[in-house]
Amino acid sequence: VDSFDEECDYLFKAVLTGDSAVGKSNLLSRFARDEFHLDSKPTIGVEFAYRNVRVGDKLIKAQIWDTAGQERFRAITSSYYRGALGALLVYDITRRATFDSIKKWLHELREFGNPDIVIVLVGNKLDLGSSREVDLEDGKSFAEREGLCFMETSALENLNVEDAFLQMITKIHEITS
Ligand code: GDP
Ligand code: MG
Repeated sequence: VDSFDEECDYLFKAVLTGDSAVGKSNLLSRFARDEFHLDSKPTIGVEFAYRNVRVGDKLIKAQIWDTAGQERFRAITSSYYRGALGALLVYDITRRATFDSIKKWLHELREFGNPDIVIVLVGNKLDLGSSREVDLEDGKSFAEREGLCFMETSALENLNVEDAFLQMITKIHEITS
């Protein structure tokens, strides 16, 4: 624990969910370390990453959990969600099936996450717009119906990645303070 950590006002947990290969790990590595990886290495990757974010006069430490590939086997356990105040629920705009899975992931989040959990629905791979299978409007209206925030992102081109995480963090801060 360094002095920077000691000055932190809040620490909270957030999780990434969504089908395999939608870009969860790359969204996190982009946000936490500004890195992107072309190869999909589902079982590599840390269990979680931290990033400190200043909101107003408060310093917030976000601990963001990534699946280590368990989503491939639908084997995410309830401990993964436990205590999570926020979630990025990710699909791939070029694969309709990943959008169809969103309901299932949302159900898990609501069953096992914190009751007030802040969920941002994220349509990733915006850079592949020419292969799009999920319209912007589909994501938007699903999010509205379910009371979620919504954003389309590209981890590859670093589009809206910061915004998606910061939207979640800011909203958690509003709710918990
Ligand atoms: P995860 O299984 O959900 O963690 O997905 P990964 O982060 O491992 O990404 C799966 C694959 O999609 C990898 O080959 C990534 O390079 C690629 N990928 C992730 N995000 C993007 C993106 O925004 N655009 C494009 N074109 N590819 C991406
Ligand atoms: Mg991953």
